[in-house]
Amino acid sequence: MAWDFSTEPEFQRQLDWVEEFCRTEVEPLDLVFPGAAYSRNPKAKALADPLKQQVKDRGLWALFLDAELGGPGFGQLKLALLNEILGRYRSAPVVFGTAAPDTGNMEMLAAYGTDEQKSRWLYPLLNQEIFSAYSMTEPQGGSDPSLFKTHATRDGDEWVISGEKWFTSAGAHADIIFVMCINGMFVVPRDSPGIEIAEQPALHNHIRYNNVRVPTDHLLGPEDGAKVLAQRRLGGGRIHHAMRTVAQVKLAFDIMCERALSRESHGKIIAEHQMVQEAIADSYAEIAMLRLLVLWTAWTIDNSSTKQARTQIAACKYTCAKVLREVTYRALHIMGSLGTTDLTPLQAMWAAAPTMAIADGVDEVHKVTVARNVLRDYEPHPGLWPTEYLPAKREEARKKYADLIAADPDLAAWADAAASGRLSRR
Ligand SMILES: Cc1cc2nc3c(=O)[nH]c(=O)nc-3n(C[C@H](O)[C@H](O)[C@H](O)COP(=O)(O)OP(=O)(O)OC[C@H]3O[C@@H](n4cnc5c(N)ncnc54)[C@H](O)[C@@H]3O)c2cc1C
Repeated sequence: MAWDFSTEPEFQRQLDWVEEFCRTEVEPLDLVFPGAAYSRNPKAKALADPLKQQVKDRGLWALFLDAELGGPGFGQLKLALLNEILGRYRSAPVVFGTAAPDTGNMEMLAAYGTDEQKSRWLYPLLNQEIFSAYSMTEPQGGSDPSLFKTHATRDGDEWVISGEKWFTSAGAHADIIFVMCINGMFVVPRDSPGIEIAEQPALHNHIRYNNVRVPTDHLLGPEDGAKVLAQRRLGGGRIHHAMRTVAQVKLAFDIMCERALSRESHGKIIAEHQMVQEAIADSYAEIAMLRLLVLWTAWTIDNSSTKQARTQIAACKYTCAKVLREVTYRALHIMGSLGTTDLTPLQAMWAAAPTMAIADGVDEVHKVTVARNVLRDYEPHPGLWPTEYLPAKREEARKKYADLIAADPDLAAWADAAASGRLSRR
């Protein structure tokens, strides 16, 4: 019997350590020196690097990268369990070497890079000696890649890249940018001549590539292979978002439950008001459903591939956005006025919900993927009536008992009554 919802004790011990470590080391760093774990400032590094070393010493560094790609090889299911903890703390992903957008970029490099490209970019990225960004979306539209225009033209030993990208997260701080052109995926050093980064938006950059030249060996994967590489990258990224969202909604739930037990109104603690109980009960069930969907998807990836799990990953993506929206809203609401301030994490979490429904593909596009893939397993019913049209099914089933019905008037009357809808209990 292979169905099992338990975690093997050895890995559970690791998870317990992670929980304690995040609570006692990562969260205080986040609260007192926000951004330190990402910073290149020597004083910040002196604070964050020893934490990263502890993670490495436990064998928990960069767990997103599976064995076949040269990583530690724990698989997506264990990563999901880990991310259920990390997602609660802002800088935990970077302290554990599993922060986006580097993770997806590393996955592409690991899967499609030459040995030379791996040693030049993958291993420095893994060690956080360098950071990367991903330039795919363009100002005229993100959901439909057929609208993209950025392209590369071959000129001798170089590719010349021209185009405009929008919402390249951390592009201004990256050492290298993975630029999706209509004819290939390119690795572009951020300080290349011709790169122009607009002031706004500040975190997710608007970048013009004005005839940016890179050597031919900066093409990643095959020429014209950008869409395949992008799918590879985004598939992994989306499930990782969902894993971390499980942590976020659990945090919102904890805040909500604690408050419900602590606050009084109209003669009783608010946890005793039925509408508050409904908010708690609905949130409990939605979190459990999301969590099981995410773990099942991670398990499927481990036992087949990201491609095989595409429908499930798409379902995780819009479901995590929805559960984040619902649960953080309820938690914020139950906190009353305090929930509307930035004195708890809830306001930021609630504001993140619409973002989750847009980043890495809008909900609509993922829902189309799910519906289209699911419908492949169905066919239209051949005649006028649906397969489950009961009169037709009953008539067909009656053939199985034809001899009995012919021989026994009682049974015949019973079957006739059922067929005419006049059946009473016999
Ligand atoms: C926080 C954040 C970080 C991001 N980081 C990056 C990054 O690092 N690199 C990068 O390249 N991009 C990044 N993006 C961009 C993201 O991938 C795009 O925003 C996304 O693909 C949607 O594209 P768009 O913004 O152009 O919206 P549009 O494509 O214009 O869509 C807008 C709306 O139109 C409707 N719509 C669109 N298509 C359909 C459809 N097929 N069916 C029904 N309705 C539809 C939906 O309501 C949708 O919300 C990031 C976005 C966010 C929010």
